[in-house]
Amino acid sequence: MPELPEVETIRRTLLGEKAGAPSIRGLTINGAIIFWERTLDIPSLEEFGLRIVGQQVKDIGRRGKYMLVRLTDDTLIIHLRMSGDLWVEGQDLSLGQHYRMVLNFDNGSRLVFNDARKFGRVWLVSDPEQVLGKLGPEPFDPALNEQNFYESLRSRRRQLKPLLMDQTFIAGVGNIYADEALYRARLHPLQLSSRVTQGDAARLLESIRAVLQEGIERHGASIDWIYRGGDFQNYFGVYRRTGEPCWNCGTPIARITVGQRGTHFCPTCQKGNDGTA
Ligand SMILES: [Zn+2]
Repeated sequence: MPELPEVETIRRTLLGEKAGAPSIRGLTINGAIIFWERTLDIPSLEEFGLRIVGQQVKDIGRRGKYMLVRLTDDTLIIHLRMSGDLWVEGQDLSLGQHYRMVLNFDNGSRLVFNDARKFGRVWLVSDPEQVLGKLGPEPFDPALNEQNFYESLRSRRRQLKPLLMDQTFIAGVGNIYADEALYRARLHPLQLSSRVTQGDAARLLESIRAVLQEGIERHGASIDWIYRGGDFQNYFGVYRRTGEPCWNCGTPIARITVGQRGTHFCPTCQKGNDGTA
């Protein structure tokens, strides 16, 4: 499932920042097709086509795991969820069986939203806050600092792993990067957020930023997901390394299930300071 670094990698690719990839910035949409009706959340199918045709792609942004295609009047918001992917190709190619949305551009290319598992969603809105309003802070936002992150952790009484994955707490972190950040911060995934020290909070924020930054630099992780040149999976500390030795202490990495998600950690390096494990 794509997380912040994978979405960011696609964003940069669509802006032509990767060798050989064409940018869609500046292109005008002259046709739009939704192949799977439930992919479109807002507005209605009929309104979508009428509204999006004629708009130009001004820029592409990102908020958490959401892609924001900024158009002349509206923002096209795309969430890839489990299996979504976006790419640009020629309109002369045949349509794939998992295409859920296609936007045709005036230069003969098209943007494809491919999504085998159909959980991905698209919104066309004039005010992105309508969709993004409940998201927590962006991890790299300088307004997020050690002090308010600490207070935010302490004010909740949640286990750290599910809290990090809660998009209203912090945006963009999912299963892989939560495990990796907790490992780097040497915090147990089940520790209660209300028991963290100021030092724990500082290390955790720094670790979240470090793993996301490294993920972006390595073009994401190609695991359970479409290969896009990303190789962060080769640098995991704990994720899917169950039974393999911890890089730091040699203890075999353990796997537990937290909120139905596989959770990987080092039982020696990541001891909770509230008696967890
Ligand atoms: Zn260890």
